[in-house]
Amino acid sequence: MDLILVHTTLRTKALHPKKIKIITLGCSKNTVDSEVLKSQLEANHFEVEHETPGPAPVVVINTCGFIDLAKEESVNTILQYADEKKAGRLEKLYVTGCLSQRYKDDLEVEIPEVDAYFGTMELPSLLNTMGATYRDELLGERSIVTASHYAYLKISEGCNRTCSFCAIPLMRGKHISRTMESLIKEAEHLANRGVKELILIAQELTYYGLDLYQKRALPELLNKLCDVEGIEWIRLHYAYPHKFPLEVIEVMKAQPKICNYLDMPLQHHSDPILKAMRRQITAADTHELINEIRAIHPEIRLRTTFLVGFPGETEEDHAALCQFVEEVKFDRVGVFEYSHEEDTRGYSLEDDVPAEIKKQRAEEIMAIQNAISLEHNEALIGQEVKVLIDRKEGGHYIGRSEYDSPEVDNEIYIDTTLGVFMPGQFVKIKITGATDYDLTGIPVH
Ligand code: SF4
Repeated sequence: MDLILVHTTLRTKALHPKKIKIITLGCSKNTVDSEVLKSQLEANHFEVEHETPGPAPVVVINTCGFIDLAKEESVNTILQYADEKKAGRLEKLYVTGCLSQRYKDDLEVEIPEVDAYFGTMELPSLLNTMGATYRDELLGERSIVTASHYAYLKISEGCNRTCSFCAIPLMRGKHISRTMESLIKEAEHLANRGVKELILIAQELTYYGLDLYQKRALPELLNKLCDVEGIEWIRLHYAYPHKFPLEVIEVMKAQPKICNYLDMPLQHHSDPILKAMRRQITAADTHELINEIRAIHPEIRLRTTFLVGFPGETEEDHAALCQFVEEVKFDRVGVFEYSHEEDTRGYSLEDDVPAEIKKQRAEEIMAIQNAISLEHNEALIGQEVKVLIDRKEGGHYIGRSEYDSPEVDNEIYIDTTLGVFMPGQFVKIKITGATDYDLTGIPVH
């Protein structure tokens, strides 16, 4: 990793040491880690802000090291605050998270303005360095930084898979499930604070329990979470397709609180590429799995992500993926361009797909999906859907149906002249208009 930096002598001035700003970069798993950090600091009587503009004497940056773009954003953010420190506007700067876990040694040399770097499992040391003490009794407690009506629930950490493009196991380690008791307790705690929607996340959701209970325990966990009073929606992110337990779909169908929404990253649909990616599943088996899921639960909406430009990906491989996207008509699709990550198994292969071809292939898939998404959205016109209001912005309330996750999926716009609603309120909306990724609607009285 190349970081070319100019260093100057540090100058600091005494500022109030108890006010801390946390900056979170990357995915929802990092958001949860920042929420735990915030809660621990607050229990130690620090005043903590999350991503608010303006100065603070102490800043903690929770970084992402997933792919090149994410690393660049993290490094730029660290540099920005390193400059603040050099200018004497910042007393202490700490860096934690995936980038720090992966590149601590390099970062210490290249950005020495940072007072200390910590890995993903070093929360007690980070707290200690900041003059706080890790509080065991807070296990499962978090200070929510998302809108107060939804919260992520991280049911496990790490991943035992060996996907050849993926650096996550290098940064997050092996899969460790959290106990059901701690998750239920956390869900109850969140519900008591007004959370209505729980978004379950993990690197591999369906592996849950195999390490701890020697069985796939996601169905049992889901049933227990449905009993938590106050939680109205439960959403599932990041299921792995190989050996996917179809019992999960049965539970989703039986439990009205579980959103009819499943995020299952599939990555590709060409057998040579799936094999090179070490995904443990063939194109034919993937197709069969989707058919089975839809046969059991026709109401389900499927979200997936694909990775284009993996080493050796030919025009034929890409055509197979495009055809799959056209045929299956996923409800939501995201596309990543391959990033050649050192220390992954894929790093020994030649990164032979030029950047402009990767970009073009990603755009082609999204163009196919845009048309599918528009078709799906137009089919909703005239239908009534239950909408969770997320926020008020400009002249609209903006919310989501159970088929959409925050920040990545469709939103529904309701004119503010049509009613008075609060974030976190469920409202019945009749859909009146559609574009490829957004909908408009009117309240049904
Ligand atoms: S299952 Fe997901 S997190 Fe685990 S190695 Fe594969 S891509 Fe990475």
